[in-house]
Amino acid sequence: MRSSAEPMIAVRNLDKYYGRFHVLRSCTLDVADGEVVVICGPSGSGKSTLIKCMNALETFDGGEIVIDGVSVGDPACNLPKLRSKVGMVFQQFELFPHLDVEQNIMLAQRRVLGRSLKEARDRSRQLLERVGLAAHALKYPSALSGGQQQRVAIARGLAMDPKVMLFDEPTSSLDPEMIGEVLDVMIQLARDGMTMVCVTHEMGFARHVASSVVFMDEGRILEQADPATFFDHTANERARRFLDNVL
Ligand code: ADP
Ligand code: MG
Repeated sequence: MRSSAEPMIAVRNLDKYYGRFHVLRSCTLDVADGEVVVICGPSGSGKSTLIKCMNALETFDGGEIVIDGVSVGDPACNLPKLRSKVGMVFQQFELFPHLDVEQNIMLAQRRVLGRSLKEARDRSRQLLERVGLAAHALKYPSALSGGQQQRVAIARGLAMDPKVMLFDEPTSSLDPEMIGEVLDVMIQLARDGMTMVCVTHEMGFARHVASSVVFMDEGRILEQADPATFFDHTANERARRFLDNVL
């Protein structure tokens, strides 16, 4: 168990290679309980790789990651249990196409948490209500818009009652008019106290919702600062250039 003094997520000197390519270079990052950390940086800088390491979708070669007291790289780490603590939402919603919305949200509750049919269904309905999709429980993903599918994906992550939610560019494949509805769900989640790590280029979200902003380039964390400092006063030349391009 994590003591209350420890961060919810501690990434220490993380190193990772893809073959001979050094993709993460001694990355160190703490996320306290209830914090929202936004990770930004150019394409290819290692953002997705870093957050995939946090729920063991990727292995790493050096350093450590501890989430809520559980050491992620440890061979003794129970993966289904870790992943039930760490929800993840991807750019491509990755819902199961052959299951309706409610079944998508129920599946892992049944298989991983062993909830009864009724418990899993009740929790699914409650979460669909929360993301504004109560009327769509029995539809298949293909019948929903991208923004609706992404909200289902968030509800599916929340159904495991995770300690942490990871988002990898959750709005990047959405049409512009749907971005707001997904960000609104994320903003509400942040207000409810969820610990979140979000890779996103939505700089408005970063400025107004993030507790801190991390800037990555070429596998390194070059800066971590509160949003006001990052956006208005970053001294890092590469971060400045990145911001000049996205803002
Ligand atoms: P970002 O999310 O910041 O765009 P990624 O973490 O996806 O960056 O990728 C970082 C670098 O690692 C890129 O150069 C990418 O081409 C490379 N990369 C990503 N996944 C793999 C893989 N499975 N095998 C080899 N190289 C990879
Ligand atoms: Mg990426």
